Amino acid sequence: MGRVYNFSAGPAVLPEEVLKEAAEEMLDYKGTGMSVMEMSHRSKAFDDIIKEAEKDIRELMNIPDNYKVLFLQGGASQQFAAVPMNLMKNKKAGYIVTGQWAKKAYQEAKIYGEAVELASSADKTFSYIPDCSDLDIPDDLDYVYICENNTIYGTKYKTLPNTKGKILVADVSSCFLSEPVDVTKYGVIYGGVQKNVGPAGVVIAIVREDLISDDVLEGTPTMLKWKTQADADSLYNTPPCYGIYICGKVFKWIKKMGGLEAMKAHNEKKAKILYDFLDQSKLFKGTVEPKDRSLMNVPFITGDAELDKKFVAEAKAAGFENLKGHRTVGGMRASIYNAMPIEGVEKLVEFMKKFEAENA
Ligand SMILES: *Cc1c(COP(=O)(O)O)cnc(C)c1O
Repeated sequence: MGRVYNFSAGPAVLPEEVLKEAAEEMLDYKGTGMSVMEMSHRSKAFDDIIKEAEKDIRELMNIPDNYKVLFLQGGASQQFAAVPMNLMKNKKAGYIVTGQWAKKAYQEAKIYGEAVELASSADKTFSYIPDCSDLDIPDDLDYVYICENNTIYGTKYKTLPNTKGKILVADVSSCFLSEPVDVTKYGVIYGGVQKNVGPAGVVIAIVREDLISDDVLEGTPTMLKWKTQADADSLYNTPPCYGIYICGKVFKWIKKMGGLEAMKAHNEKKAKILYDFLDQSKLFKGTVEPKDRSLMNVPFITGDAELDKKFVAEAKAAGFENLKGHRTVGGMRASIYNAMPIEGVEKLVEFMKKFEAENA
């Protein structure tokens, strides 16, 4: 069997070129006689890999010099704790709750201080992004936290919240490198790479330098202090070397594809094919308010749980994998990250049309 169209929300599809290149270098990385998996993280070869990866992501995202790029472990979920530990000087932060990942971060912050829910879209099962243009932002907040793209519900902020001068912290796990960003608008941008950038095991945190200090909450583990990692150029301990190497290859691939502007155009084109179909379908319906639709995660339903199940099973048999919606919401979800080719979405839509005709 060849490769399938993999619509998984994460870990997710990676560019085939990257996988092939990694396969070619598996036994002997650039004449070192060993795999990147086998080499010291203090070796010259790995030092070149991590430095080059940092240089490339800086170039792609146009990251200013006063931001550090940290390659970390522990998943995005560990940053749910690291963010308050490093930033909650007044022990008070604001959270905008737009889905499960934002809610988990909000709940985690409550362990360390007062977490204020500034807005929420729970009233309509997180199917929209609340208006954040004029929120009631208490003066003593240490930061305002968002989950920028809601992987499970398929919503995305099209404009960032007005934080009224407070530091903005964003979990961008499922929209990382999917379109250009203005890094200067954020204090911290972080994401697990297994959605759109690389293999599971790496988290990239882009942190403004003035937010990195020894002034962290009492009891913060050394490993969770951003300063520890920043001072050691992400080599305080053994980093996830192989994952960083693959991320580096994905950065090169994105550069070759034309950078983040080109990625955005490619992603918009793909998403439009699917949303246009959903908008005219008599069987399938998108579940998100159109203005807040994600380019990356597209949830949809038939309205009949049995029919949803049948669709997922038949799609799988036809080579479209991982279309089942998140276990907490049901229905279907097609995650169409950077590496999903346009043909994957075109063929999915063809398949949906056929299914619709057969099940009318
Ligand atoms: C997947 C995901 C997470 C959790 O990531 P882990 O690396 O498994 O901890 C957090 N936030 C968002 C937006 C995600 O999509």
